Amino acid sequence: MVEYDQGLSAAIRETTRLVADEQVQRIHEATFSFDNVLVRVDLLERTDAGWILTEVKAATSVKPYYLDDAAIQAWVLQGCGLKLAAVHLMHVNNQFVYQGDGQYDGLLHAEDISDIVFSRIETIGEQKDAFIEVLAGDMPGIEMGEQCYSPFECDFCAFCQPDGLPEYPLNALPRMHAPRREVLQASGYVDVRDIPDGVLQNPNHQRVWRATCAGEEEVDIAELAVLHEWGWPRYYLDFETIGLAVPRWKGVRPYAQIPFQWSCHIHYEDGRMEHVEFLDVTGDDPRRACAEGLVKHIGKDGILIAYNAGFEKRVIRELAAMYPDLSDVLLEINERFVDLLPITRKAYYHPSQKGSWSIKAVLPALVPELNYADLDGVKMAAMLNWHGCRPPVPTLKKEKRFPTICWPIANWICWRW
Ligand code: SF4
Repeated sequence: MVEYDQGLSAAIRETTRLVADEQVQRIHEATFSFDNVLVRVDLLERTDAGWILTEVKAATSVKPYYLDDAAIQAWVLQGCGLKLAAVHLMHVNNQFVYQGDGQYDGLLHAEDISDIVFSRIETIGEQKDAFIEVLAGDMPGIEMGEQCYSPFECDFCAFCQPDGLPEYPLNALPRMHAPRREVLQASGYVDVRDIPDGVLQNPNHQRVWRATCAGEEEVDIAELAVLHEWGWPRYYLDFETIGLAVPRWKGVRPYAQIPFQWSCHIHYEDGRMEHVEFLDVTGDDPRRACAEGLVKHIGKDGILIAYNAGFEKRVIRELAAMYPDLSDVLLEINERFVDLLPITRKAYYHPSQKGSWSIKAVLPALVPELNYADLDGVKMAAMLNWHGCRPPVPTLKKEKRFPTICWPIANWICWRW
């Protein structure tokens, strides 16, 4: 391992020493500099045919922009005089299932990307010169566009953002294709309210436009009537899960969503409200206790309600597959779910949602008294505590630990309409 704490020059000197020492087979974080470009290589392996350069990613597949990343490293290494035998991209194998006892063979998959990388090396020097020229010159007059957000949000968005941003930018029109948005921009519309009547054709865009221009929510009360027809009792259920790249428990795949917490508000026909919850931050496999808790507390009658219920249903389905003795009850619970998200998407829009029906956008629009940022913080605290395996969220009051966020939405809708 080439440490970086003594600075760049020391890291390069140490790399040179390790490369020269034929006893050294593998170097992590080997540091090279060539023609003003510095790279640190995740893994460098010595073979008789030359060095194998391996770039390691936490993703589960090879993404196109990784190839340029690897090509730049290969160009620098060749420039430093190293003979490259191959270039590999190592990523997490999402088909791997941990069998316990620390056996992680097969967790990572190394894909040989030599051909594509070697075919790109020729162009790297030219591209690097073009970048240096840009850096040396005045700031280019490039408008913000899709390149600012894909494949990642650029760090300079706040800097490049023009002054006097529109209150309702065109991206508040949900799922509008980029070319269509560009046509609207080219027509001089910057705010949704600038668009004249009759220009938008998509019914959802028209609804967002109407509510935004009117400055008030638009509600389809007939679509919300279904909420009043739901049976009793009503179980409002919300999970928190943890997805680890390196599975910790037997039978788990990388990034599998493991439930370590749930919160359930039970609303009875006579108005009574009960709260039950489960939380495990011991670091042990929480799934069995999680499933048993559901079986114990979810009664045989009534419906379960979640916002974007597909997530809760998937978690329960996976628990059912894991524990055959609980499977029938868990799958029967899954049959009784209703999803608040599609109902809200169809029936409700407030301009403050700015084109989103995420719970973060809908909750403050419907129930301004509840601040999602606070609730978000509570959920985040729970996640952090799980990672630290500390005692369960000691600084939070029990009732604030993990509120079931879908129940205020449903209750508010029922109360108002
Ligand atoms: S935000 Fe980034 S990508 Fe977008 S124009 Fe500015 S510098 Fe370029």
